[in-house]
Amino acid sequence: MGISSHAEKFAAPRLDAQGRIELVGLNLSQIQALLVEDGQPAFRSKQIWNWIYQRGVTSFDDMANLPKDLRQILTDKYVIDRPKVISEQKSRDRTIKWLLEMSDGQQVEMVFIPTPSRGTLCVSSQVGCTLTCRFCHTGTQPLVRNLGPHEILQQVMYAKDVLEEWPSQGEKQARDLTNIVMMGMGEPLYNYENVAEALKICMHPDGLGISKRHITLSTSGVVPQIIQCGEELGVNLAISLHAPNNELRSEIMAINNKYPLEELLEACRNYPGVSASRRITFEYVLLDGVNDTDDHAQELARLLYNIPCKINLIPFNAWAGSGFQCSPLKRIEGFARVLEGAGYDAPIRRPRGRDILAACGQLKSESQRKVREQNE
Ligand code: SAH
Ligand code: SF4
Repeated sequence: MGISSHAEKFAAPRLDAQGRIELVGLNLSQIQALLVEDGQPAFRSKQIWNWIYQRGVTSFDDMANLPKDLRQILTDKYVIDRPKVISEQKSRDRTIKWLLEMSDGQQVEMVFIPTPSRGTLCVSSQVGCTLTCRFCHTGTQPLVRNLGPHEILQQVMYAKDVLEEWPSQGEKQARDLTNIVMMGMGEPLYNYENVAEALKICMHPDGLGISKRHITLSTSGVVPQIIQCGEELGVNLAISLHAPNNELRSEIMAINNKYPLEELLEACRNYPGVSASRRITFEYVLLDGVNDTDDHAQELARLLYNIPCKINLIPFNAWAGSGFQCSPLKRIEGFARVLEGAGYDAPIRRPRGRDILAACGQLKSESQRKVREQNE
């Protein structure tokens, strides 16, 4: 299947059930073009954009500086939507997980992880995932469809609603939501165009205004889009590495057959802006007896030689039927010591939200592709 027909087949709907166009996710010039089509002055687009992204307004009636007849036109033709909340679960450690439903009924999960110094929102990019990494629960849900730019942004905007981050919800001493990680369901670089459009609006000073330094995109290693992502978006890059050699990596991550380590690490070395102060994060999940020996750690240290990076060691979050176990903590600490001895920063990531299945690689929804599509 060609790239464009693939994109069409897995595309997100842009109209709601009443046939109205979703304005979230359209950039300023797209909104401007729609208004001009409606015979409206172009400058209104900036006002609408401000209401949507800086004030969090969802009703055109609240857009006080627009004339009444324009508000009516907008209400008839357009919509500013949020996902529907199917469930909200709070972990003992204050992590929150939501199951969100999009306008066509497809569902994704999103997680908010507060720490004393920051609040990180883990956002999904696809319903299901294109890939099937063996240790990952999300990977057992075949790709249903890509999320559109509007649906990626709507997740962030919904979180801002709940966390009361809009100015109309009152003055806050400090923001709760400071960081975004594209680490929810899906492989963001297999939905690059939509993710890029959403992140551009997220980063735009007149959009959500979240700086690229506070946004991290995680990929299993879709090499061709890595450089593009660095050049166009400049966000922080995280790589799901999980093995120190091709043989083992291909066994647990099929994408390694397509883009082996040499190519992946070359893309990391060339990632625009990478430096000692802007390091790449390598994620390494510790699987008992699979990738967790001191020899593996030494091999990893040699592999990443000369790449400004940090290695996040992630205790495996178990799920029924995975066939893997988490390495004992002592083993993970031993692994970290080898890496630290070789000069790497190798923190052990404390799992968050484990009691509500909100931890890394555990997100999944019940959404499935329609039978008709599956048989195509
Ligand atoms: N598809 C992208 C984004 C998802 S990020 C990617 O793979 O990078 C989710 C992170 O959690 C990835 O680093 C993934 O490898 C990791 N992960 C997956 N399953 C896990 C599990 N069971 N325990 C711990 N980490 C896991
Ligand atoms: Fe998809 Fe990432 Fe899970 Fe692999 S690790 S199956 S790419 S979500």
